Amino acid sequence: MPFNNHRLTDSVLLEILALSKDATAIYTSADLVIEMANDAMLSFWGRSRDIVGMPLTEAVPELNTQEFIGLLKTVWETMETYVAVDTPAELLINGKLQTAYFDFSYRAIKDADGNMLCILHTAQDVTERYLAKKLADEAKRVREELMFELQQTNRELTALNTVFLEKNDELNSTNEEVASLNEEYHSANEQLNNANNELSSLNEEYIAINEELNAINEELQSANNELADTRGKLQGLFTELKLSEQRLANIYEKAPIGIAVLTGPNHVIEQANDTIINIWGSRREDVLDKPHAIARPFVHNQGIGNWLDEVLVTKQSKINHEVMLQMPTLDGQTRTAIVNSTYQPIFDNDGNVSGILVILEDITETYIARKHTEWAQVQFRMAIDSAGMGTWSADPNSGRVTLSLRASEIMGLPKNEEITIAALLNMVDHDHRKIVADALDNGIKNSKPFDLEFPVNNPMSKERVWLRVTGKMFYVTPDYPASFSGILVDITEQKQDEIRKNDFIAMVSHELKTPLTSIKAYTQMLNSRLQKAGDEFSTNALRKTNLQIDKMNKMISGFLDISRLDSGKILLSKEEFDLNDLLYEVSGDVLLISPNHDIVFEPAAGRIIVNADRDKIGQVVTNLLNNAVKYADHSKSIFISTYQSEGKVTVSVKDEGRGIQPEDVQKLFERFYRVSNHKTSSVSGFGIGLYLSAEIISRHNGKIWVESEPDVGSTFYFEIPLT
Ligand code: ADP
Repeated sequence: MPFNNHRLTDSVLLEILALSKDATAIYTSADLVIEMANDAMLSFWGRSRDIVGMPLTEAVPELNTQEFIGLLKTVWETMETYVAVDTPAELLINGKLQTAYFDFSYRAIKDADGNMLCILHTAQDVTERYLAKKLADEAKRVREELMFELQQTNRELTALNTVFLEKNDELNSTNEEVASLNEEYHSANEQLNNANNELSSLNEEYIAINEELNAINEELQSANNELADTRGKLQGLFTELKLSEQRLANIYEKAPIGIAVLTGPNHVIEQANDTIINIWGSRREDVLDKPHAIARPFVHNQGIGNWLDEVLVTKQSKINHEVMLQMPTLDGQTRTAIVNSTYQPIFDNDGNVSGILVILEDITETYIARKHTEWAQVQFRMAIDSAGMGTWSADPNSGRVTLSLRASEIMGLPKNEEITIAALLNMVDHDHRKIVADALDNGIKNSKPFDLEFPVNNPMSKERVWLRVTGKMFYVTPDYPASFSGILVDITEQKQDEIRKNDFIAMVSHELKTPLTSIKAYTQMLNSRLQKAGDEFSTNALRKTNLQIDKMNKMISGFLDISRLDSGKILLSKEEFDLNDLLYEVSGDVLLISPNHDIVFEPAAGRIIVNADRDKIGQVVTNLLNNAVKYADHSKSIFISTYQSEGKVTVSVKDEGRGIQPEDVQKLFERFYRVSNHKTSSVSGFGIGLYLSAEIISRHNGKIWVESEPDVGSTFYFEIPLT
C-alpha cells in the first residue's frame, strides 16, 4: 500500500504539527521539556521560539502558580490523557497577565512498548465562545428571574382582582342601600325643613334662653373663680393640716408629758409615748397591746383601774392632782411617785366611749422641792415669830398692805384687816412721815432697799411705838414686781434707851460746855495780861491751850449734834443763798487755821443759788476741807469746785493725800466709823464728821459720795438741788 511506503519522518510530522492552527506543544520527559511549540502556542504563552528545549516551568514561570504543571505531571506519571474545556489560564498577553479561556488536552503518547514518549498539548482559545456562553447563561438567568417575578406579580394581581370584585359587589349593594337611603333622606329632608321652621322659632327662644344662660354662666364663672380661690385656700389649709399633723405626731413622741391611749372595756394600751413608758418604769414591749390590768397590775390595783372603769361609765374626764403612787422601776424596785393625771374619754362617731386618753405628769421632784421650800418658810416664820418680828407685804399696784399677826399686834391694828400704804403712813409720827414716804416711794419705784427707824402712833393704846422697818422689792419676772415686803420690829425699848443715852450725852455735853466757855474767857483775859507783861513762853503756852479748848469745843458740839440728830431735833432753817459765796467764806476760815495749805477754788460761772440751811451746808464743807487737811498731811493743795447740771449743783473737795482703801469707802459715812491703821491713829477724831455730813445732805434731798485711790488722793462730792 502506497500509504505505507510514504511514511512521514518525525521532523516532518513536527513541522506539520507546527502548521496546525490549534496551539500545539510537545513535552518530552517528566520535567516537561518543550520539545516543540507551534506559533499559536508560543503566542498564547507570549514567548518566542527560544524557549524550545527549556522545561515548561522555566519557560513560562507564571504557569507554576496555576494547576497546569501539576496536571501535566500527573499525565506523565499516570500516562492517562487529560481533556478539559473552558479552563481559565493566566497568561502574559501583550506583556500583561490576563485571563483567557481554553479547551485543551494533554495527550499521553506512548511507544510501542507502552512507555511514555511525550505529551501532546493542544489548546484552543475559546475565550470569546466562553464569554458569549456566559453572557447567554446570565441573560437566561435574568430572564428566568424576571419570569418568576412576573408570575408572582400576576398571582398577586389575580388575588387583588378577586378582592376588587368582592368589594365591587359590596359597593353595588351599598349603592343600592344609598339609593334607598337617598329616598328616605328626601322625605326626611322635607320633615327636616318642617322641623327647621320649628327650629327657627325654637332658635329664637333658644337665643333668649342662651342670653339668660350667659348671664347665669357669668355668675357661675365668678362662683367658679371663688371656688378655685377657696380650693387654693383649702389646699393651703390642707398642707398646713398635714404639717400640723406631723408636728402633733412629733410633739406626741417627744412631749415631756406622758401620753397614752387605752381602748376597749379592758383598757388595752394601744399607744404610749416614751415619757409615759419612763414614768411607768416599764418596757414598751411588756405593756403595749395588753390590757392595763395585765400590763401594770401593781398600779392598776392602786385605784387606777377603778378610775379607768369610771371614765367608761360616766363618760366624764377624771383629773387628779398630786396623787401619790407606788410605781415599779425598771430594776424591779418600787418608788414613791407624785403625779398629776388626766383620764379623758375618747368618743366614737356614735357618741360611745371607745377609749381613754391618759395624760400623766411626774411631778415628784417639783413636789419635793416645793415641800422643801414650804418647810423652809415654816422654819423662817417660826424664827421670825420667836424673835418677835412681824412681816409686811405691800402690793405696789393696788397699794394694799398685808400684815402678819405679830405685825398687826405691834402696830395696834385689828387682825387680818386690810390696810393701805397711805393709811399706814398716816400712823407715822408727823416729823418722820415725809422721810418714810420718800424712802418707800424710792424703794417701790427704784427698787431701793428700805431700812428705817421711826415712831408710829398705836391707835389702840395711843402710845408712841418705835419701829425698825426693812423692805425690799420682790419680782416674779424682771418686768413684773410681785410685792414690796419686809420685816417690822418693835424697837421702842431700845430706842428709849438710846434716847435716854442721847439725852444724857446732850446733858453732859451741855454741862461740859459751860465750864469750857468760862475757861475760854479766863484764857483770853490771861492772854492779854501776859502779852502786856511780855512773857513770851506763857503767851505761847496759852495759845496752845486755846487751840485745845477749841478742839474740845468742836468735839462736844459734834456729840451734841448727834444726840440732836437721833432725837430728831436737827431742824433745817432754809434760806436762799449763793453757794459760791459760802465756799469762799469757809475756805478762808479753814486757811486761817491751816495756813500751810493752798485751797484752789474752781467755781462754776455765775451765781449758784440754793435754798438750804446755810450753816449746816457750811458745816459739811468745813468738815470735808478739815479732813483734806488732816488726812493729806504731806500734800499742800486742796481743790474745791462747783458744777451745775439738770437742776442740781455738785461740790467736790479733792486732796492729794493718802487716799482710802476700797473696803473702807462704803463705810466712811457710818456713825463712828474710822479707818483703822497706823496712819489714822495719829489723827484725832471720833468718826462722826462724815456721818453728820451725810445726814445733813440727805435732809436736803441730796447725796454725798467719795472717789478715792490709795496713795493718790480722794475726792469727796455732794450734790443738792438748785432752787
Ligand atoms: P474723823 O475724821 O473724826 O475720824 P470723819 O467721819 O470725818 O471722822 O471721817 C471718817 C474717816 O474717814 C476718817 O477717820 C478717815 O480715816 C477717813 N477720811 C475722811 N476724809 C479723808 C480724806 N480726805 N482722806 C483720807 N481719809 C479720809
